Amino acid sequence: MRLDALIFGGGAAGLWLLDRLSRDGHHVLLLEAHALGAGQTIASQGIIHSGMKYTLTGLLTQSAKTVREMSLVWRDSLLGRSTPNLSHTQLRSGFCLQWHADTLVARAGAMGPRYAMLPKPETVSMHERPAVLSGVFGVVARTPEQVIAPRSFIQDLANQYRDRILKIDAKAGMEFELESPGEVAAVRLTSPADQSTLELKPRQVIFTAGAGNSQLRKHAGLSADLMPRRPLRMVLVRGDLPELNGHCLDGTKPRVTITSEKDQQGRMVWQVGGEFAEESIRIDEKTLTERARSELSIALPGVGLRHAEWSTYAVDHAEGAMASGAGLESIQVLCAGNVTTGWPTKLALAPILAQEIASRARAPYVMTAFDTTPFVHWPRPSVAQLPWDEAGRRWWQVAESTGFELRRAA
Ligand SMILES: Cc1cc2nc3c(=O)[nH]c(=O)nc-3n(C[C@H](O)[C@H](O)[C@H](O)COP(=O)(O)OP(=O)(O)OC[C@H]3O[C@@H](n4cnc5c(N)ncnc54)[C@H](O)[C@@H]3O)c2cc1C
Repeated sequence: MRLDALIFGGGAAGLWLLDRLSRDGHHVLLLEAHALGAGQTIASQGIIHSGMKYTLTGLLTQSAKTVREMSLVWRDSLLGRSTPNLSHTQLRSGFCLQWHADTLVARAGAMGPRYAMLPKPETVSMHERPAVLSGVFGVVARTPEQVIAPRSFIQDLANQYRDRILKIDAKAGMEFELESPGEVAAVRLTSPADQSTLELKPRQVIFTAGAGNSQLRKHAGLSADLMPRRPLRMVLVRGDLPELNGHCLDGTKPRVTITSEKDQQGRMVWQVGGEFAEESIRIDEKTLTERARSELSIALPGVGLRHAEWSTYAVDHAEGAMASGAGLESIQVLCAGNVTTGWPTKLALAPILAQEIASRARAPYVMTAFDTTPFVHWPRPSVAQLPWDEAGRRWWQVAESTGFELRRAA
């Protein structure tokens, strides 16, 4: 079957692009090897950065402007005023809170954020402060960063494009026919359900498979491992916790970022990241939990977590490297032959990646409606489970003085 475009990978990047190319009239399919969003999107904290994070030192960079524009695109989509229509995507919060760690730097009043961008964070008055932040030092502010529930976002787009999303067996059920390196003539698939076959002849092939892009590029005869990967280990805390979405700053840098969502049993779960998560890949779970607990006691003084349960999960973040080497995020797009490889580097930047790839795409070869009936019996991928709802996840409690009690999840 002839196609305008074939997308591999159904995380934020692939799904946003599928919407964009479908609306532009392309005959396009998305192939998913695991579950939609498996990898980074389901593991992300869901913060649609407003660019503020990148202006804390007072410099208005191009990255900050781009992120700011993208946050407005998301806002319109979430309201159903723009495409993709994300009006069924749940918001964890309409804003983030921002406060300061009680450190010498903060007490000295030096190195605080100097925002170069409007709107600046709004100060939250003492009587409006949530109880969980009642003990924090200095100003608490509200930033215009929406926090989405990533699973509902993936589900929202998956529901809209179910007829164009196919499950594949990327190891044993997929074969590339190349005309030359980077020039894909056909992709042959064998159904993971009933061994039926499908031959797709796309004019362009797009890899938005996150960590899976390297392997796909090898199939297409292209060099792999072009994207730096940053391994992270995030911490989960669950129990009788208040809802909290925001960042604790240390000087001009976010020190701890907490987002929250209820699990399938209705228990609140905090997803905790920050600087400690970046070094955490080299340390064991016990040490990591201790470190996270210590970070939370600095970020949220007076908040007792005695009865909380803890867990951790590992995930690789495919990051953008700036030409300057500064490490700020921006989208990455590589084109060779009829193959495009894309990394959004941030959930928030999925719209700009889709726009960039769509603007380079050749016009659809026929402007007729895409008939998806030939794929009607092909298996469809499920949506990935949130880390805290994964079956078999281990949770543990931290006794105040004696260390660890390991327990299996209820
Ligand atoms: C812990 C963490 C927290 C984050 N928090 C935020 C945040 O708050 N805000 C923000 O803006 N960004 C955040 N990010 C970054 C953001 O999550 C990613 O930039 C974004 O989700 C990447 O989306 P993606 O679609 O490129 O990749 P992924 O989400 O990794 O999706 C790749 C998809 O491709 C599939 N796949 C893999 N191999 C193949 C194959 N061979 N064939 C077909 N399909 C394949 C996978 O199963 C998956 O569905 C966070 C990242 C991490 C790791």
